[in-house]
Amino acid sequence: MKLNLNIQPLSSWIKTGSEPLLIAGPCSAETEDQLVATAHLLAKTGRVSALRAGIWKPRTRPGEFEGIGSIGLEWLKRAKAETGLPTAVEVATAKHVEEALKAGVDILWVGARSTVNPFTVQEIADALRGVDVPVMVKNPVNPDLSLWIGALERINNAGITKLAAIHRGFSSHEKSAFRNEPMWDLAIGLKTLAPELPLINDPSHITGNRDLIGYISQKALDLDMQGLMIESHIDPSVAWTDAKQQVTPDALVEIIKHLTLRKPEIRNSEVKDKLEELRNQIDKIDDLVIQKMAERMKIVEQIGNYKKDNNITILQVNRWDEILNKRTNYAKALKLNTDFTEKLLELIHAESIRKQTEIMNKDEAGQAADKLTHA
Ligand code: PEP
Ligand code: MN
Repeated sequence: MKLNLNIQPLSSWIKTGSEPLLIAGPCSAETEDQLVATAHLLAKTGRVSALRAGIWKPRTRPGEFEGIGSIGLEWLKRAKAETGLPTAVEVATAKHVEEALKAGVDILWVGARSTVNPFTVQEIADALRGVDVPVMVKNPVNPDLSLWIGALERINNAGITKLAAIHRGFSSHEKSAFRNEPMWDLAIGLKTLAPELPLINDPSHITGNRDLIGYISQKALDLDMQGLMIESHIDPSVAWTDAKQQVTPDALVEIIKHLTLRKPEIRNSEVKDKLEELRNQIDKIDDLVIQKMAERMKIVEQIGNYKKDNNITILQVNRWDEILNKRTNYAKALKLNTDFTEKLLELIHAESIRKQTEIMNKDEAGQAADKLTHA
């Protein structure tokens, strides 16, 4: 069943001409200079449709920088006046809404820590009643599609029709390369239930790592999301919050230039939807396999160093036989073809040997390779 939301198109409230739609700006407004200078650089790229900045920051621990507060609204006003960029801030209370509206902020967003709490969302929704302002709702911290939908419905019921969802990933207890697991299936679930609701991806908070922003952005665009919100700071190395995930405006342009924009598939049949769902599952599993391989190789490195320090040969045939037997039996039980399993294990083993040989040979030129009876 589809959701019953009353939504206006994205183009009715934000400039959608340049592709992909991009909302950018620092995680936090820190100083007037930092915000205004960043805004100028972002405006100069010609790629940015709105300037984001947090001024009230919900932090996990007290004592961390909790945002510059209301004075930041004045800085946003100046940034807008000088660059022409519309502004966006996070609101978490009725008072934030009031102050932001009074200061002429163009777009409001509800943060992940607020979306989890229906009381907070309702308070924000009540403060928005009768106001015509665009609102973006981030997914809740926990992977709960109903909470996300509930928040969107509360805001929509208050009369906000310029509405969008932001996908910023979810908390997970599993160790991962990402700060917040994308759990693409939840974003796809929302898209399926509300195809007309604009969905914007936030690769900064998903990755927590500037090097992975391009990868996640591409994936989001491939899933036909309508835009990106990316944190950009004039000098990320000194950022007061989320330093590792922020990029300079120049780096932002590089990321955007390397993205491939594809036309959305015509999704006119259930078969295509099913195929997409299955492919997403495959993508998730492949990412996990690669991630686990990287983890395995890190451990191989530790073993290599240990063997080197203790003068142990790289290859110990008994150990290899044991691995091969155990794994092929396990694989067989899981109905994997034995030939395939053996080939896969050989490949992984060969790379492990290569890595350890490299470590041994670092300063013993060639000696370790001699110890290698076969590889
Ligand atoms: C932010 O956008 O800086 C932020 C605090 O994000 P989130 O609510 O997604 O954690
Ligand atoms: Mn942030």
